[in-house]
Amino acid sequence: MRIVILGAPGSGKGTQAKMLVGHLGVPHISTGVLLRNAAKRGTELGLLAKSIIDQGELVPDNIMSDMIEERLGRDDIANGFILDGYPRNVAQAKSLDAMLERLGRPAQEIIHINVDPEQIIRRLAKRQELEGRVDDAEKTVRNRMRIYAEQTAPVEDYYEESGRLTRVLGDGPKEEILQRILSVLNIHATLD
Ligand code: ADP
Repeated sequence: MRIVILGAPGSGKGTQAKMLVGHLGVPHISTGVLLRNAAKRGTELGLLAKSIIDQGELVPDNIMSDMIEERLGRDDIANGFILDGYPRNVAQAKSLDAMLERLGRPAQEIIHINVDPEQIIRRLAKRQELEGRVDDAEKTVRNRMRIYAEQTAPVEDYYEESGRLTRVLGDGPKEEILQRILSVLNIHATLD
């Protein structure tokens, strides 16, 4: 199954994507993880990405589409994937659609995890205490949320207009949220 998970920073999309791997047996592709790994390796691209990420800005579209194209070109996505962190603006959404179309593997489910902004600020403050991510500092979180509202929320509309988006409430224990997502996937798989 080919799934795209959308949601604001701190909405829990990474957590849910990881839990879904155990149920669906397809790889989790997280652009945040790919970028942070490149930064750890100290590649030129990684270091550039780090300076952008630490300010809460978006890495340029051409870098992201090259990265995603390379990742989606690998054999391990034959049975599907769970994509987390891409697309983050409408240009990326169109580029992803075109890429998946070329591969003959269009996205089957686009799930949006919905969490209210106040809760997100509380969650990311806690994550910063635990993990120390530079981009979880309060000022940077506000910038990421502003960019989400300006650039990523229109991606929800883009998919919604074509009837492909399902919204799931991201509030409550993570196992419960996982069950909500799994029931969406089951219901749609049965309808197909
Ligand atoms: P979160 O969803 O909590 O913001 P991620 O780990 O998904 O965390 O992303 C961290 C950062 O990586 C983003 O704030 C952004 O700077 C960069 N990034 C990840 N995916 C993309 C993308 N598709 N386009 C541009 N930048 C991206």
